[in-house]
Amino acid sequence: MSRFPIAADDASFHWRHLPSLCALFAAFRGEGEELRVVGGAVRNSLLGLDVGDIDCATTAEPEKSMEIGKAAGFKAIPTGFDHGTVTLVMDGHAFEVTSLRTDVVTDGRHARVAYGKDWAEDAARRDFTMNALYLDVDGCIFDFLGSGIADAKARYVRFIGDAHARIEEDYLRILRFFRFFAQYGHDFKEEDYQACIALQAGLAQLSAERIGAEMVKILQAPYAAVALLRLYEGGMLAGLCGTAPILRRFERLLVVEASFERVPSLANRLVALCGHSREAIELLARRWRLPNHLRDQAIRRVKLLPLLEERSCDLSLPWLKELAYHHGKEVVTDGLLLQTGKGMDDHLAGLIAGLDAWQVPDFELKGKDLIALGIPAGPELGRILAELETRWIASGFSLKREELLASLSPPSS
Ligand code: ATP
Ligand code: MG
Repeated sequence: MSRFPIAADDASFHWRHLPSLCALFAAFRGEGEELRVVGGAVRNSLLGLDVGDIDCATTAEPEKSMEIGKAAGFKAIPTGFDHGTVTLVMDGHAFEVTSLRTDVVTDGRHARVAYGKDWAEDAARRDFTMNALYLDVDGCIFDFLGSGIADAKARYVRFIGDAHARIEEDYLRILRFFRFFAQYGHDFKEEDYQACIALQAGLAQLSAERIGAEMVKILQAPYAAVALLRLYEGGMLAGLCGTAPILRRFERLLVVEASFERVPSLANRLVALCGHSREAIELLARRWRLPNHLRDQAIRRVKLLPLLEERSCDLSLPWLKELAYHHGKEVVTDGLLLQTGKGMDDHLAGLIAGLDAWQVPDFELKGKDLIALGIPAGPELGRILAELETRWIASGFSLKREELLASLSPPSS
């Protein structure tokens, strides 16, 4: 086992001074138990990346974790009590605290677990070496497998122990393997990749929700394109998606996103993965149990593509603003990114920058303004209002409220 102190002023680990985490450490220590942070928070901090949730491991059994948490003023939720996990919440920070455990019986997804006091055994039941690093209250990292820190820093995804055995315990690990590769994207152990390929039939044991949730994490990740390619080359992608997606468009979108320095949009990546087809999006959304709002966002983008295509030779900022007014700025910008095939194109870059800098205005005239002028409520009022809005849009959103009202001929009564 190796033990590495981190520098006291290491900014990547600043979160370890969170008052709620300090209270958590102190509460467990006060009851004669030990708690350490493990998993993504330690791994990402070593890589200088943002930290999401903070997972912890403890020598206390779940019931005692609940008691310690409550006594120290945390809200205690038995989120995964049967496999040792409770969630302790303070100041809006949720800590997933899992008792040190070994998996006694496994069935490809769920494990019957035994609690223990042995940190090395707990490390050995985790999935990848980069995920089995523990940070204690004094700022020391424990690397029980020996290669965890080096693997994390090299962004090298490697199963703990024999990959075949570890996958047969839990087939979700196949998808986690590609997820971490997609997120960190440098390399993986070739034998482990081959084990994923050999055991892919086990993916059928996973629920649609689990597959969908992991695939979405893969799609959003920085190195999603190469991870999907490896899934495809390993013969797994068609089974996961229900059809064989064409990766060319997905790869191109990621290149374009990078050259335009855009924050990736999951909905847009879905559109690209589905080959710009509404039908394919609907099928995939059903298969992966995607939330309706995500499916609808993707469909909104697809619907815009023919319009952009038609005007592709003569795109102008005023026209795009009009489109953005009706469909939303993000949707239009995403549509432009999907349309471009040439990476950084100066004209397009200028248009996107123009849209970014522009705030979609509100149409200020309301029905009551017209009623105040004596126009009676009813369908005619709606028609006049719509006409004024059209005029306002056609003016490049420049006509003022007063100018629009002045343009109305007095109502005949
Ligand atoms: P993220 O930053 O996305 O939260 P993470 O590594 O923290 O990544 P979690 O799903 O939060 O991933 O799990 C926390 C830790 O629990 C992992 O780092 C790993 O040690 C362990 N773990 C989670 N799922 C599994 C699994 N299926 N098999 C073995 N260990 C797992
Ligand atoms: Mg986590």
